[in-house]
Amino acid sequence: MSIPFIDLKAQYREIEIAVKKGIDGVLERGAYVMGPEIADLEERLSSFSAVRHAVGCGSGTDALVMALMAFDIGPGDAVFTTPFTFMATAEAIALLGATPVFVDIDPVTFNIDPGDLKRKIADVKDNRTDLTPKGVIAVDLFGQPADYDRIEPLVHNNGLFLIVDAAQSFGATYKGRPVCSLGDIACTSFFPAKPLGCYGDGGMVFAHNDELHKLLVSIRVHGMGDNKYENVRLGINGRLDSIQAAVVLAKFEIFPGEIEKRQQAAERYNELLSGIDGLTTPVIADGCTSVWAQYSLLARDTEHRTELMGKLSEADIPAVIYYPKPLHLQKAYANLEHSEGDFPVAEGIAERIFSLPMHPYLDGESQKTIAQVLKG
Ligand SMILES: *Cc1c(COP(=O)(O)O)cnc(C)c1O
Repeated sequence: MSIPFIDLKAQYREIEIAVKKGIDGVLERGAYVMGPEIADLEERLSSFSAVRHAVGCGSGTDALVMALMAFDIGPGDAVFTTPFTFMATAEAIALLGATPVFVDIDPVTFNIDPGDLKRKIADVKDNRTDLTPKGVIAVDLFGQPADYDRIEPLVHNNGLFLIVDAAQSFGATYKGRPVCSLGDIACTSFFPAKPLGCYGDGGMVFAHNDELHKLLVSIRVHGMGDNKYENVRLGINGRLDSIQAAVVLAKFEIFPGEIEKRQQAAERYNELLSGIDGLTTPVIADGCTSVWAQYSLLARDTEHRTELMGKLSEADIPAVIYYPKPLHLQKAYANLEHSEGDFPVAEGIAERIFSLPMHPYLDGESQKTIAQVLKG
């Protein structure tokens, strides 16, 4: 029996009846787009996240684009973010014609480094007459919240906005606060591999502020005004499908239990893998909980990682590198004229990191096998 990296089939067996009932409801009712499932899901997830408003949308990428559009971001605007994240985070900034300004990461949590954020904001203010600092997108990488107690004052003292990219962290908490209640706007994704996923693409945007909520609702449907055929601004087609909302509603029923199971699986890994020479297990900062979108380890160096991943592969155990190439070195951002050495922490981590199978249905026996392979 091979061990899956993420076991969506085991999950499906838990929710099969509820999913089929939910999808059947959409088919019977016929409201395929913006059906009652959307408002129902928005209500449940905003309440779970202790935030006033939620706006269902087409993907995590759409969520980020809509959030930036709500802040009227465009050419000449600088938005600070991390180069050690999924492409979509910085892509949303660049798609709107604004400039992603990268900030190095913390070597322990892999999240944006508040010390470097402070330096980069000052640098843009002092040296970049072509750019106006506008906001920060903090990413909760692998499911662990960023260092918000240090990020929030920097953001507010500089008159910036804060967007939380919670695509990997929906369900995590920072000092007791649900991650999607943090920042001015929080964005998440329901891509199947995320902790709370659907069976296709989907996402959600969260905001406390009524005015931002109104803007997001308008932007989601082509900048509509009082009705769909009155367009008061530019927007996108950013709607969430009713069928995908029905799937998330079914999965949300078992989500709190799944978070617990993920945390137990992570604790088992931590125990099994501690004390292996040259291997660093993940560290969760004080006051934070993670939803373990990934369980990521650091090898001693690239050679050591290749050796360990080779052993896993021989034993038919999947392992993945998130992320092999930081965004500042991607061709898509060649116009930013970065080179190797610009973000030494992100580059160093990219050379050593790899992720093991992680999902709520991962059993202790499989984890023992994985640990033995890594030790052997
Ligand atoms: C997955 C992801 C996104 C994009 O979500 P999609 O639903 O795939 O568009 C954005 N940011 C991060 C950090 C992600 O992991």
